[in-house]
This record gives sequence, structure tokens and C-alpha cells, in this order.
Amino acid sequence: MSATITLAAPLSGLALPLSAVPDPVFAGGMMGQGLAIEPLSSTLLAPCAGEIVQLSATGHALTLRAANGAEVLLHIGIDTVQLGGAGFTPLVARGAQVVCGQPLIEFDIDAIARRAPSLLTVVVVSNSDAMTLSDCASGPVQAGGAGLLTIRAAGASQAPAPVASPMPACRDSARVAHEGGLHARPSALLQGVARRFDAQLDIEFNGQRANARSVTALMALGAGEGDRVTVHAGGAQAAEALAAMLAALETATAAGHAPAAVTTSVTAPAARSDGRLGGVCAAPGMAVGTVVLLAQQERVLDEHGHGIAAELAALTRALAQVQQAVAQEVAQAAARGAHAESEIFGAHLALLDDPQLQQAAEGFVHDGSSAAFAYRRAIRQQSEVLLALDNALLAERVADLKDLERRVIDALLGEAPELAELPPQAVVVADDLTPSQLTQLPRERLAALVLARGGASNHVAILCRALAIPSLVAAGDAVLALAAGSTVWLDASDGWLDPAPTAANLAAARQQIAEREARRDSLRRHAAAPARTLDGVAIEVAANIVNAAEAAEAVRHGADGVGLLRTEFLFAHRSDAPDEAEQRAACQAVLDALDGRTAIIRTLDAGGDKEVPYLPLLPEDNPALGLRGIRTGLAMPAVLDSQLRALLSLTPLSRLRILLPMITDLSELQQVRARIDELAREMGLSERPQLGVMIEVPSAALLAEQLAAHADFLSIGTNDLTQYTLAMDRCSPALAARLDPLHPAVLRLIELTVRGARQHGRWVGVCGAMASDLAAVPVLLGLGVTELSVSPALVPEVKACVRQLQLAQCREQAQALLQQSSPQAVRALLQLADTGQR
Ligand code: PEP
Ligand code: MG
Repeated sequence: MSATITLAAPLSGLALPLSAVPDPVFAGGMMGQGLAIEPLSSTLLAPCAGEIVQLSATGHALTLRAANGAEVLLHIGIDTVQLGGAGFTPLVARGAQVVCGQPLIEFDIDAIARRAPSLLTVVVVSNSDAMTLSDCASGPVQAGGAGLLTIRAAGASQAPAPVASPMPACRDSARVAHEGGLHARPSALLQGVARRFDAQLDIEFNGQRANARSVTALMALGAGEGDRVTVHAGGAQAAEALAAMLAALETATAAGHAPAAVTTSVTAPAARSDGRLGGVCAAPGMAVGTVVLLAQQERVLDEHGHGIAAELAALTRALAQVQQAVAQEVAQAAARGAHAESEIFGAHLALLDDPQLQQAAEGFVHDGSSAAFAYRRAIRQQSEVLLALDNALLAERVADLKDLERRVIDALLGEAPELAELPPQAVVVADDLTPSQLTQLPRERLAALVLARGGASNHVAILCRALAIPSLVAAGDAVLALAAGSTVWLDASDGWLDPAPTAANLAAARQQIAEREARRDSLRRHAAAPARTLDGVAIEVAANIVNAAEAAEAVRHGADGVGLLRTEFLFAHRSDAPDEAEQRAACQAVLDALDGRTAIIRTLDAGGDKEVPYLPLLPEDNPALGLRGIRTGLAMPAVLDSQLRALLSLTPLSRLRILLPMITDLSELQQVRARIDELAREMGLSERPQLGVMIEVPSAALLAEQLAAHADFLSIGTNDLTQYTLAMDRCSPALAARLDPLHPAVLRLIELTVRGARQHGRWVGVCGAMASDLAAVPVLLGLGVTELSVSPALVPEVKACVRQLQLAQCREQAQALLQQSSPQAVRALLQLADTGQR
């Protein structure tokens, strides 16, 4: 059998270097060396004869093992795993022997081009560290044409059936120089060394031998710093491997990093002297309830699987998926210069590729366990070994194993664990949460939310306000140490949590909660009436919602309409894109729930910190400054079109207002308006809904006058306007307390927006969280805002607040506020005016 093979082109198209691939994992060679092809044909052909050793369930990628042991990964398009198999038809099965040029996968090139960020098809040799690659083609190639790439086996380590080495074994000893001994990172380092050679390397300590390719086996030796170990080497490159391993053992590395879980820990809020834990208020309110630590919630797994083959395949897929994600994190951390982080995740990568762990999990699958159950058992088994070693540093590595367990199980069962098991009045405490994780919690049992991280204007906070869940964020790691099941008292409005309230405090808190509820009830009874200032000016108080149920809730709370439907949350749990009919049904249900009121429906604001699971968005270094909002829509016209068509088919159109997120300048508005006109014409519509723009970035506020000439209304998104004006990430816990929309710079942009809109007779609303802040209501009215869109539950209070204001006085006060130099000065002046009025 020849050790050298030459691949034929699997597709017609343009051959490019891997560096051209818009995915750091491929471009950085982390999946192996090779090249990419911009395809012009739509049938992937076998580039050589061999066995299909891996075929992804979604049919977008496979690995072919050639006769010389080269494992050739063929991956069609980038991020195409997210298409869930749509557009791909595999023509072979795993285990099949194929001949060169045999069709392997057919794919719908047009459909994939519309839905994936790139069609670039990657051809890499995943075990390229055991191969020598040469003669990479570049430029046009023809499907089936020879000469794409030459691969020469440099050793037999990755070959399917390693041949017994004719070389003698050798051994030597070394003193472990790594600080803390052989914990995860040094073990990962040793694993890396072992993989470079065509040799079997074992390390012996205390009568135990470990395969040096297994991180868990190495850690389980329990070899400490300064301990002497023996290295056994055998195989073709035994001598070189032995020398390299001895050197690796004797090269000191520092262990002084924090455990993975706390490497990016937040700056703890200033310590309080009263024993309470401080944080930033994300949604006001008070609660008394039982602590549920989200991280401790364990997924309930089916013990038994659906057959050995299916479970093994699922496990392989899940490991590959997590590996790809972790590799990306390593690359991103390295690019940011976050060395500790990249090293730690590098160790996670090594653990994922650990043969011992994998064999243990596969063994449990062979015994009948499901893949998830088997992986958990393998991890637990390993954790027990580490814990039994009585070595604090190694015991800490259990957290890394747990992290991998969670990720692999999530990959197997889908993310966002169900949390139906909350006790009543649960105070959920977590490190951080995604919006979809929050929305999966049973609302009726959730009394409050407390996050160690997060920010007051990120999307979890917004959802909490919308759902009236008192919530404290950026509370620091101390909250993660709260005892699960304990009773705590939280005053989110005041920014603290009492971990050990006295019986008297609890009674007083419960009384206060009941009184607040009674006051809210009374406000609710008057909420349906319009909100007019004392001098008779009507202010529309609408609601921010995410679905039809909330639309109905908004009506019950007296909202005059919907001021913002964030459509990105409509399908937050879906991994596949909703079609036009589904979008139409969801939006029509909102209109129907409004009993004749109008709804402002915003087109998808995907990107930034808002992940839309079914959209293939590329990772970006600065997502908040990248493709988000209308930019994403314009970059993915099919997605935007489908949403616009769904909106245009709503009835009656007179009650619909379309809102465009993250508008930078006029050209974006004009493009979308033109597209709406075209679609409406195609649909035979004579009527057009009103079209508004969000003012969320300083450029839009500065150009408000131009925008107002073409838009029907302007709605200020103060969450983003504050973020982009102050250059402070709305998700940064460290900046949460400083991200104040009452900053005079933000107020000036609001004033400018209103002034620009007035020139064209347009109205301006505010739908950011600022509108729900009672202290900010007089300010916004004074600046000329005439619509406030707030969380449904807050409508009664905001209306009550408007009814106590004199608009003329608000205007006068707003002029003074514009002259202040800090948000503190603005708030101080507001407080002064407030006490003066009482
Ligand atoms: C805003 O930015 O204020 C806004 C309402 O939009 P979102 O919070 O959804 O980004
Ligand atoms: Mg916004």
C-alpha cells in the first residue's frame, strides 16, 4: 500500500487557501491542514478511495479515511450544521467503502447559499499532524479532476491498524517540574507531545501506568510537583518521543490561574456592612422566596439508549460539536491575548479528545446506556478518581470535567435545560442566563432572579421587566455561594439581597409586598383611561411585549397599544427558521389580542447580544458593532423579505406599524421602504402600514431630521442609544451601574431627535427601559416625547405618573437638565425638584 495519495477535486469551483475561510477554526488549521473550494457544482465526490468513517447527522460533512490512514474531512459551507440537514442529501452511509469520484453528498447550492454565511467547502486532513501535505491546488478545479492535494503518511500513529513496532522500547525517569503537578493543563501539554510521535508513551507513577495521550489517565496518576515519574516509550519514534516527553515533564509551568469558572469573574459590588449582598437593579420589586441555584440543576437523563450504533454515533457527533465550539473559544481567547483562558479551554479540548474518557463512555454505551448517561457516568467516574487523590488542584479540575459534561449533554439533548421543577416562590440564582433560558422558567413559580453577572439593560433584564420579575444583576460571585433551599429577602429596587433575614424582617417584607400589590391593583383599576398631564396633554402609554400572551396582558394592564414587539423573541426556542405562515400567525395573534389598538412590530433585531438560534450568524470580535438589527436584515434579504411579507399580510394593516431596528442613516430606511413597496405591489396591496425607525445609535439621532422626512415616526431605543453614546457595553456587569440613560449626553441626543422629528411633524416615542423608569418620565415628556412604551406590568404606574405632571414644568426642568455634566447631577436635580413638589 502506498504511503502517498493524491486527492481529486470533490467539486468544481475555485480552490483557495484555508486562510480564506470565514471561520477561525478552519482558517487557523485547528481542524487540520488542507484547502477550501468555492463550489460551482452541487454533488460532493469522493476525493480518493476509502472508508466513510464519519457522516454528520445533518449531512453537511463527512470524513473519509484513505488507504494511507489520512482522514479527509469534507465540510460543505460554513455554519451549515445550523441548517439542520435542510438542503443536504447524503448518498452514502457511515462505514461504506467508496471509490474515488463516487458521489457522496448532493446539496442544494442555492438554498444553502441563501441561508449559510458561506458556501466555501473545506477539505482538510484531520490527522494532518501525522501526514505531510504538498502540492495544494489553487484557482479553478474540476470535479473529479486529479491533483488537488498530495498527502504522504509521515508515520502510522493515526492509521487504522497500527502495526506493532519493530523498535525496542526504552524508558527513563523525570522529575515533574509543573507547579501543582500533573493537573489538567500540564497533562494536556503532555498529551500534545505524545501525539506528535509515532510512539506509544506511558507514564508510570506510584505503581500505576497511564497512556500519555489520555489527559484523565495522566491526572489520575496524582503525580505532584517534584515527584519522579518513569516514562516508557515504544514504537518507531520511541527515542525522540522519550526525549521530548522528559523535556516536557521537566519544563516548569505555573498553576496560578483561577479555576475556569471564575476566570472572567465580575468585579464584586462594593461590600456592604449590613450582611446583605448588593447588585444592580434590573427589574424593580421585592420578593421573599426559596433559593434555587441554577447551576446545580441537573438534567434528568434517560438511562437507556436507542441502540448501540445510534448512541455511539450521537456521542461522536456531540463530542465533535463541543470540540469545534471549544476550539473556537480557544482561538478567540488567544486572539484577545487572554492566555489563561485559552490555556484552560485548551485543556478542555484535550479532555474532549481523551481516549480513556471516550472509551469509558463508549463502554457504558455498549452496556446499554444512552450516550448522555454514558458520558455523565464516565465523567463522574473520573471525577471520583480525581477527588480521591486528595490534591486540591486536581480536585478543582472536577469543575472542568463538569463543564464538559454539561456541554456534551447539551449537545446531545439540545441546550436550555427544562426547569419545570422550580418550587413555588423560587428565587433563581445563576451565574448568567440567556433570554431563552429565562423564558423557559415557569413564570408562575419564579419570585425573583439574581445573577452574578449581567447588566441592567441586557435582554434578560428587559425580559424580567416585561415579566415583572424583580431582578438583581451584576451581584458578584458571592450570590453563587447562597445555600440552595434557603429563604432570602430581595429588594431589587434598592439593589440588595438579604441571605439570612430574621423572622421579623420576613414578616415586614411580606406585608410590604402585599401592600405594593394592593396599590398596584388600585392603579390597575384606573389604567384603562388615557394618560393626560395636569395641563391636559395626552401621552400614549404602550407596552413592550414579546408575544400574543403579553399583548393580552398589556391590554389587561391598560396599555394604549403595543409600542414594541421584539420579534427576535417570538421564536427564541426554535433551531429552525419559522416560515412566513408561522410568522404571520404569531403577529396576527398579537394584533387580534389588542382589541382594536395598534401594534408597532419591529423587524428582527438579530446579532449583537441577541442570538437568534435559527440564523447562521458568524462570530464577530465586536458583535455589538457588527451585523445586527437592520444590517442583518439587509445582509440576509430572504430573511427580511419573509418577515416583511408576513407583516404585510396582517389585517387590518391600519393597525400595524413596522419599526426598523439599529438604523444608522437614511439609506437603510430607503432600501427597506422600497422593498416594502415592491412586496406590497406583488401582493396586490393598496394600503401600506406606517414605517418607523429606531433611534439607537448616535448617527441616527444626529440625522433625525433627515430620517423624519422619510419615516412616519421615530422610536428611541434608549438601551442601545445609551450603550453606543457612552461606549459602554450594555451587558457588562462592571459598567452596569454607570450605564445611565439620564446621562446628559443621551438627553441631548433625545432632544435633538425630537427637534428633528418636529420639523416634519413626526411623533417620537421611547421604547427603551428608560421609559419604564418613573424618575425619567418627566424628563422624557419635558424633552417632547409623546409616547412611552413600557413593560406591561408597569403601564398603570407610568400612566399614574404622567397624570401628576405639568408638561410646562417638565419642559422647563428638561432645559436645566440638558446643561448638567453628569447623570448624577441630573438625578440630583430631579430629586431636588421632587422633594420641592412634595
Ligand atoms: C433599545 O435599544 O432601547 C431597544 C428598545 O431595543 P433592544 O433593547 O431590543 O435592543
Ligand atoms: Mg435596541
